[in-house]
Amino acid sequence: MVLILLDDSEGHKILLNSREPRKLLRYLMTSAPPLSNSSLYKPSLAGLSRRQIASALLQHGIAEREIRMRVNQLWHWIYYRGVTDFNGMLNISKTLRHSLSEAYDLKLPEIVEEKISTDGTRKWLLRLQPTDNQDKGAEIECVYIPESDRGTLCVSSQVGCTLTCSFCHTGTQKLVRNLSTTEIVGQLLIARQRLGDFPEGIRPDDGMVPVGEGVRAISNVVFMGMGEPLYNLSNVSEAVDIMADGEGLSLSKRRITVSTSGVVPEIEKLGEKCNPMLAISLHAVNDELRNKLVPLNKKYPIKELLFACQNYPGVSNARRITFEYVMLKNINDTPADARELVRLLKGIPAKINLIPFNPWPSAPYECSDWTTIEQFSDIVFNAGYASPVRTPRGRDIYAACGQLKSETEKLRARIRMTNS
Ligand code: SAH
Ligand code: SF4
Repeated sequence: MVLILLDDSEGHKILLNSREPRKLLRYLMTSAPPLSNSSLYKPSLAGLSRRQIASALLQHGIAEREIRMRVNQLWHWIYYRGVTDFNGMLNISKTLRHSLSEAYDLKLPEIVEEKISTDGTRKWLLRLQPTDNQDKGAEIECVYIPESDRGTLCVSSQVGCTLTCSFCHTGTQKLVRNLSTTEIVGQLLIARQRLGDFPEGIRPDDGMVPVGEGVRAISNVVFMGMGEPLYNLSNVSEAVDIMADGEGLSLSKRRITVSTSGVVPEIEKLGEKCNPMLAISLHAVNDELRNKLVPLNKKYPIKELLFACQNYPGVSNARRITFEYVMLKNINDTPADARELVRLLKGIPAKINLIPFNPWPSAPYECSDWTTIEQFSDIVFNAGYASPVRTPRGRDIYAACGQLKSETEKLRARIRMTNS
């Protein structure tokens, strides 16, 4: 047995017995001086906009006349080369690299789990960097869908979703918060790291990644993961601009699609701010049914939604709006629904995407039969729309549209229990 003499938080001497680990632990929890924020938590520069990097550098004491050049240097290393350590930034002096690494880091969301589907789709459970010393890091999901000549990354814009579309698993998650710009861009950065999609990166030898001279592992980004992007418009727009920056990640805005359940007033703003491709989760052709499937419809009914689509900045036959329509058995899948869909979309440069419903445990719907989907698709096709039925991908690992629901809730509950 060892006796330990220590000071408590008020300066009184206390004697602890090594056979009483609980007491010792309590002492450490209550008497140790709190670690200051700066001693543990360093904000990451990876995922920030030019403006945010500039302001971090100014705060760091870099002279104003140098800021532009320094931002460009960091931008190149972070977004073009994909470095994750200040030491790799070879054209920045050792002293500056050192002082930057004392105040900041380049951490990305952490991959806590990777699941690879039999069709090559990957789903990552990502733990976000803690935002302060109390935060243990929220979790989100992110999905990579490879094809032979391209690859699509499906990113999340929120932890969970405040909307409650009745067919969507994400909508049943209670804990919700907006993701920051850094956390949204961080999903693309970590995915490119994992897939060897930066210069000198090495492609993984499992799963599937498109191959070929100059073919990128990630050629497209869709905001179809967790959350309603237009409830987080300013961070989503900033993230789109970072992803599209020609000196960094360089994704064309024609290859970035933001999907919304129909937050009408924000649609025009999205177009004005960053103008990516737009997708609308329509799913029903009359308000009565849409109110049930997408309750936000009660606030912004179909007519107003389609009016906003017609006026989306830059919409044209070359830049069509995608209308997503989930096929629910005996709910919205009759030939009459298909004809009404075509009638509603008249005059809007549109693409129609039929999505077989992806079931999740205890979901209240079933997917339409294949013949019903084919009939529906034929009507849409004969009206002049290429009407691809989106092949479900990653169903075996619950990675398909609307199936994402992170374990954050459980994680938070565990943390609460540990703290009490
Ligand atoms: N909140 C946004 C983007 C995320 S959802 C939106 O609703 O558009 C991405 C797409 O998945 C949407 O079209 C959504 O309606 C669809 N979706 C949700 N749950 C689904 C499910 N279980 N099966 C098929 N598609 C689903
Ligand atoms: Fe939210 Fe989109 Fe799911 Fe509706 S479909 S609950 S808006 S994530």
